[in-house]
Amino acid sequence: MLNQKAIQLSNKKILYKLISENPGISRAKLAAKTKLSKTTVSALVEQLIQNEFVVDTGANRKGVLGRSPNDLVVDSAKNCVIVCNLRKRVMQIACVSAGYDVEHIREIELGDAALEPAKILDPIKAFLNAAGESRYVIGICVIIPGIIDLKRKEIVSVVLSLRDSRKLINELRKGFCYRYPVALLNDSACFAYAENAFGDIESDNYIYININEGVGASFINDGKLLGGANGMGTQFGHFSIQKDGIDCVCGNKGCLENYIGESVLSARAKALGIADEFAHPDRIRFKDVGLRAESGSAGAVRLINLLAEEFSYGLGNLITLFRYETVVIGGMGRNLGEIFLDEVRTRVKRFGFRPFTGNVTVAFTNLEDEAIFKGAAKYFIDLHYDFDRNMSGKLVI
Ligand SMILES: [Zn+2]
Repeated sequence: MLNQKAIQLSNKKILYKLISENPGISRAKLAAKTKLSKTTVSALVEQLIQNEFVVDTGANRKGVLGRSPNDLVVDSAKNCVIVCNLRKRVMQIACVSAGYDVEHIREIELGDAALEPAKILDPIKAFLNAAGESRYVIGICVIIPGIIDLKRKEIVSVVLSLRDSRKLINELRKGFCYRYPVALLNDSACFAYAENAFGDIESDNYIYININEGVGASFINDGKLLGGANGMGTQFGHFSIQKDGIDCVCGNKGCLENYIGESVLSARAKALGIADEFAHPDRIRFKDVGLRAESGSAGAVRLINLLAEEFSYGLGNLITLFRYETVVIGGMGRNLGEIFLDEVRTRVKRFGFRPFTGNVTVAFTNLEDEAIFKGAAKYFIDLHYDFDRNMSGKLVI
């Protein structure tokens, strides 16, 4: 009996995914795609309609031949996921509809002081109350620029100034799980999952690299996110590019993100003697460097070349280990622009095992930054949500 219920839930999940990815699909097409019987599909779709996850837009329309056309779509008007994206000094909260449209992004300054759980929880609660008035919130996703270690129940993040991550996890559980499932997801994994679902990269096998304050990588393998979304799969940002390099808070020396992450741009510009070229020398962003380089600053181009060299060295080694032929770059690092991309394309071929790195294609993602919200919501619904509207108490990673 239990098994049967599990199979039903898993089939419902598959049907919901197909409907969300193919708006307007018919029951007959669902049966053909899933190889489930038409009776099973009809019964499960009926449950999804009864539970207000799916709408049959054809049911109220009279077809030319007097029959309903059966156009199934997910019910975006009724259901949404709240996604909170934690970044250095700022957090964004967005409502993502069941059809994966990102709505009402709110930005909240977090400041430089140690991050107390209330600073994160209170704005989510306020947002939840507002969103929950008109919609059913099926879950809350919290995106972390770091790893979520389920075994130790800890968040490890070099970017966030979290004093006690266990406390944050406990507060999230206490604050929301009485009613909503909560998912903790790694930022690069959410971007990579969004790329896979909504991007235009044709390959099913690639490395997605997220360059922000920190640097993260996720592997898409046969169309699936390798190792899940907790960020424990790989730590590219803490891959050492200099054996005796800068000490990192992670314990390692020479970690890549301490050379190319956005947080260290000011220090790098100062070392090159070009910091005065920028309006805010103590808070230089990728965007500033990209713009300066584009307008012909030799200093900014020198800095970009340096970043490209160090990134390519790390990337060449990563490709030597895992042999992916396609690399997608996302995050704020994209603002370094085409000059950076061209340099990486050339330089990566000079590093690592040449038969591998010689054939690598490197591209920027075409998705907007808000893709991270869609990626998180879709990952949560595709992998964790079970469509019986009774997931309270669950904290998933
Ligand atoms: Zn490190």
